[in-house]
Amino acid sequence: MTLLKKPELLAPAGSLKHLHMAFAYGADAVYAGVPKWSLRVRGNGFIREDFMQGIEEAHRLGKKVHAVLNIIPHVRRVAAFERIVDEMAQLKPDAFIMADPGLIDIVRNKYPDIPIHLSVQANTVNAGSVKFWQKVGLTRCILARELSLTEIDMIKQECPDMEVEVFAHGALCIAVSGRCLISGMLSHRDANIGACNNSCRYGFNIRNVHAATADDVTTFEADDGTTLSAQIEETMHHKGEWMTMEEDLNGSYLMNSKDLCTLPVLKRLIEIGVDSLKIEGRSRSPFYSAAISRAYRLAIDAICEGKEIPDESYNIVNSIPSRGYTTALLEPHRPDKTQDYETNSPNPGKLQICGEITSQDDDGTLHIDVKNRFEKNSHIALFTPEGLVDLDGSSLVNARDNKPLDVAPGTGWSVKLKHNSKVDLSTAVMLRLDE
Ligand code: SF4
Repeated sequence: MTLLKKPELLAPAGSLKHLHMAFAYGADAVYAGVPKWSLRVRGNGFIREDFMQGIEEAHRLGKKVHAVLNIIPHVRRVAAFERIVDEMAQLKPDAFIMADPGLIDIVRNKYPDIPIHLSVQANTVNAGSVKFWQKVGLTRCILARELSLTEIDMIKQECPDMEVEVFAHGALCIAVSGRCLISGMLSHRDANIGACNNSCRYGFNIRNVHAATADDVTTFEADDGTTLSAQIEETMHHKGEWMTMEEDLNGSYLMNSKDLCTLPVLKRLIEIGVDSLKIEGRSRSPFYSAAISRAYRLAIDAICEGKEIPDESYNIVNSIPSRGYTTALLEPHRPDKTQDYETNSPNPGKLQICGEITSQDDDGTLHIDVKNRFEKNSHIALFTPEGLVDLDGSSLVNARDNKPLDVAPGTGWSVKLKHNSKVDLSTAVMLRLDE
């Protein structure tokens, strides 16, 4: 059996807590945004001291931190950008993730020892581009999300000495990786400077669906007063292909992409020789970084040992909030496999964080700040780097007066629960498992 090379598992770190959790649950590296200078300006709590501490923790564990500086600043901001790069370079991150060619040139000349990875924002879709960036001195290209498996394979074969990073899991963009004006137009939050608010997923009403010619629209009828449907044909390139649009009382969601999940094609990505698999989601919770890291850690390890992906990987990704999953453009698809036309709310998933464990007594008693309702008979458990550990809710008491409780109603309540083993409070997450 030929042993497959394990790709790096790269997780999002919106904060030091994300970093700590991602490493504990199996990530090899994290990426964190330099405030104001990386796309995804919200949900980015990584100040200079956090980078210092995070890089120290990563290097102590033999892991890596990639600092994201992928904004494309206008000319008047370049001097400020250079000052930030000078500060960041002193901290010795394992790489800068950048997108702007001019700034890449400046940083390359000034700090030749710090590797630069080309951001997905640069939309690299062919081997010629990869070779160009290799000549410039970059060590890795984060490939555009718009490539198929076959195309990634072709690029890797033509550029075997250049590292390629591919998005493995997380939200997708209807535009070409963030090159979009929808959010800027509808919400005055420009996606191209990292402020996207997912406006593409809003509900859009269909009104007055009467096109210029009868060929464009064939039906538009009210169905029991709640559902409208129209069939639309794009006559230039898709003659004869009728797209049905429906609108119910909640609206129509024409551009609500499902989330990317590459577990079904992970083996192929590893066989191609992809060097790094990236989890999207710097604005998601530390639990998300931890859970998806564990799902892909287990999957990568299994594949590289010649085994099947364990059920636990699928159970985790299917149990946390998502918009449903697709392998997107990696595989040929019909549009209804990539979009969720029914709703713009994520499916809440079966794993709900229900408490934060603030301390543990010597006798094992857990002190818990309640985050979401749970009952003493609920299925509750600790999510840990070693897997789920069931909790017994029968000893549930109110922390204020030690009186027994049947229900921990929600935020604002502090409760106690007996437990018979030591819990690592820095990584354990208390969950309610819904059926
Ligand atoms: S609004 Fe939608 S399409 Fe535009 S950048 Fe945001 S996620 Fe992408």
